[in-house]
Amino acid sequence: MSVKYVFTSIRLHVQNVEYMFGIVGVPIIEVAMAAQAAGIKYVGMRNEQAACYAASAIGYLTGRPAVCLVVSGPGLIHALGGMANANMNCWPVIVIGGSSDRNQETTGAFQEFPQVEACRLYSKFSARPSSLEMIPAVVEKAVRSSIYGRPGATYIDIAGDMVNAKIDRASVRFVSCCPAPPVSQADSREITQAVRLLRAAQRPLIIIGKGAAYARAEKEVRELVEVTGIPFLPTPMGKGVLSDDHPNCVAAARSRALLQADVIVLLGARLNWILHFGFPPRFSPHVKIIQVDLCAEELSNNVRAASALLGDIGAVVRQLLETVRSWRFPSDSQWWLTLKEKMTANAQISKSLALQSTLPMNYYTAFHHISELLPKDCIIVSEGANTMDIGRTMLLNYLPRHRLDAGTFGTMGVGPGFAIAAAVLEQTQKSAQRVVCIEGDSAFGFSGMEVETMCRYKLPIIIIVINNNGIYSGVDPKTWKEMEKMGDMTTIAPPVTLLPEAQYEQVMSAFGGRGYLVRTVEELRSALQESLDNTQMPSLLNVLIDPASDRKQQVLHTHTHTHTHTHTHTHTHTHAHSLTL
Ligand code: ADP
Ligand code: MG
Repeated sequence: MSVKYVFTSIRLHVQNVEYMFGIVGVPIIEVAMAAQAAGIKYVGMRNEQAACYAASAIGYLTGRPAVCLVVSGPGLIHALGGMANANMNCWPVIVIGGSSDRNQETTGAFQEFPQVEACRLYSKFSARPSSLEMIPAVVEKAVRSSIYGRPGATYIDIAGDMVNAKIDRASVRFVSCCPAPPVSQADSREITQAVRLLRAAQRPLIIIGKGAAYARAEKEVRELVEVTGIPFLPTPMGKGVLSDDHPNCVAAARSRALLQADVIVLLGARLNWILHFGFPPRFSPHVKIIQVDLCAEELSNNVRAASALLGDIGAVVRQLLETVRSWRFPSDSQWWLTLKEKMTANAQISKSLALQSTLPMNYYTAFHHISELLPKDCIIVSEGANTMDIGRTMLLNYLPRHRLDAGTFGTMGVGPGFAIAAAVLEQTQKSAQRVVCIEGDSAFGFSGMEVETMCRYKLPIIIIVINNNGIYSGVDPKTWKEMEKMGDMTTIAPPVTLLPEAQYEQVMSAFGGRGYLVRTVEELRSALQESLDNTQMPSLLNVLIDPASDRKQQVLHTHTHTHTHTHTHTHTHTHAHSLTL
């Protein structure tokens, strides 16, 4: 058969790719139109970086990659931040970039750039199909590479002249849909070793990472926790694999659990900065790690694994369960007592901070009231410094894959894109789960124009900007005015400051969503309740908090003794976020 085959239809739908996020322009407008015509949902965004964040969140939430479609040169370069973020988090995403015509290469063509090379650092696979005939095969390879092995980003370069070219259908190498990733099991000797270690443990701990969330291993992990009775600790995005209010969750005694554990079962989490590398002084120098990961190179990274379980988390945990049988760690052990004691003490500290009623509000008060109103099944997107750190401890997750944050790479600006992806998914699945995006005021600024995207598609996202007038912290309006009188602000304004009491809620009302300026607890509660009742449009709550509110100060106000809050005080000012409690 010699039907003319237009290659703008790049066969993504055949690979079960359902969503495309991007910004069109020359030369890829036709690719977006063809994808939409083939039944792929197309979401037009305002910056390629946010588009790429959105596409990667679909990959994490569904296990099937989405596409980020960008134009040549600067378009592709903007997407690199999203690719890097996805790759660092081990999330699948496919970036498709238009590029200048092949016969103009090296001539200084419009937006000409070495795109395939540029993407190589940020991806697992980066290629330009050598001919039109090869496009379906390269698309299949990009999809497969993104989800097989350790998931990650892939890149396909489509030269402008390929977009509208026609060829004989008969000459095309068609490839069928790539099946779900193969599932592998661990070596049985390593399983035996793991169970031997567990049975001998005095202070065992299970760490649940976002790899377990991505693996959809919640059923197996729950069984492991409940059969063995071992305490567990989720990483930030491991939260919700098992509910944060599960009786075995020791998140409120995080530092003590990490420091004193003698045997740790590590389920899909890397011993990177998030877990303090597994090193002393945050971990025991003698800790034995039972490490489960599908990436062989990850095993024994930083700390030599006492049992290296290479395989899929669900499958490996099932192997562990078969071998451990009915062994159970005693609930009246010294280990449980010491963890419980710490959890009670920490809970009391947070509570006393949350109940402070001075205005402007502090972080704890704001989060306390937000958490009281949020539905248990909502998807929480969060980024910022203190906003994300304190929010993580105070906003509970009850369901797997219901938390999206700055992640492994500590990327600011991910929130709106993640929220859009989650809301688009909810819209398709009609599950009526709400997406709540809790942003520091600085973090919000990075991708703030995506509010227009939310309004355009009527995605009922609730953005809560926890506004302290700056990065880490800012100044109050009065101090700002005084500084302005002193002279040139570029020589005076501290680099961390942003405009005091900036009216971010008006960004939302500019596009038809609801904006709320919030100063008091009553305003916060009523604005949030109204936003939850509004299922038609997005809302933005601009919550003005005390610009001097930070973790340490608050703690010193009410308590004179040292506790876990103060441990990472220096980190909160040097890194985007830190992890305590
Ligand atoms: P966290 O941010 O929660 O600490 P990381 O992103 O550091 O988690 O680690 C996740 C780990 O999970 C990665 O090393 C990745 O290779 C691994 N992983 C992802 N999916 C699976 C799976 N299905 N089975 C086993 N390991 C997985
Ligand atoms: Mg701030």
